[in-house]
Amino acid sequence: MSARVLDGKWVRDQILSELRPRVERITRDHRPPGLAVVLVGNDPASEIYVRNKIRTCGELGIYSEKLALPDTITTGDLLGMIEGLNQRNEIDGILVQVPLPPHVDKHRILLSVLPDKDVDGFHPVNIGNLVANSSGSKACTPAGIMELLRRYEIPIAGKNAVVVGRSDIVGKPMAMLLLHQNATVTICHSKTSNLAEECRRGEILVGAIGKPAFLTTEFIRPGATVIDVGTNRQADGKLIGDVNPDDVKAVAGAYTPVPGGVGPLTIAMLMANTVQAAEHHLCCG
Ligand code: NDP
Repeated sequence: MSARVLDGKWVRDQILSELRPRVERITRDHRPPGLAVVLVGNDPASEIYVRNKIRTCGELGIYSEKLALPDTITTGDLLGMIEGLNQRNEIDGILVQVPLPPHVDKHRILLSVLPDKDVDGFHPVNIGNLVANSSGSKACTPAGIMELLRRYEIPIAGKNAVVVGRSDIVGKPMAMLLLHQNATVTICHSKTSNLAEECRRGEILVGAIGKPAFLTTEFIRPGATVIDVGTNRQADGKLIGDVNPDDVKAVAGAYTPVPGGVGPLTIAMLMANTVQAAEHHLCCG
């Protein structure tokens, strides 16, 4: 039997349609929620991501502002711009698109965003909230994956979950969110011994590696739920995930395709974090 496809676009549409009345209520009672997106330089992938974020804001009625800055900007000037956004009442969320040019001190920039405007969930205060299972913005991609698992009623409590990848923006927060839902979580990385064996223990397997079709049959437990975060561009321009698409269909119980799986969830959760920040700022949540 072929594995069940977990459709990220269906989940995204649900999330966005649930946000719409909240945006309308905030707008009616106060003002539209506001998001500022800071883009430094001309990275083509970043430009596409930013365009999609701004477009989705428009579709939902969220006010958005794009600050396109030259890649020659200094850390000091960028800190000044973010401070300005921190002060502005009509801006509820600030997103600094990464990657930043190498000469910019990324850590200082991420630290400078007020934690309650940090809709990416990257500020150390929000990372601490995540670890403590307290409220606050959570990293959008892992938070979106949790929404997908919940809406497809995939059981998590008591299951073995294996996360391959330990980045600050995907792997680590993913592991923490699964742990908070009472999974028994293993985090794997490039130094893990017997990676395939570890992965095969996963009733839920999350691939967040950045290596095309790296996870093949030998890594997948039969019947597992496989979440593919990877977005790798092939020579022909097509996207491929970190999981081999033919193998996952044959072995898994359910899986997210690439494209159309995890990708659409990230922007939806950015919108959710922005609306939540606005509700928090305007005390109507
Ligand atoms: P990073 O490069 O920051 O992290 C990759 C992780 O994979 C590292 O922890 C690394 O281990 C691990 N890794 C690399 N090679 C191996 C290996 N051979 N065996 C086991 N582990 C390995 O990537 P990100 O977390 O930022 O992104 C991962 C993927 O997800 C990328 O394809 C990215 O494009 C995609 N992505 C997709 C999003 C979406 O919205 N769909 C959002 C964010 C990311 P180590 O720490 O030891 O180096």
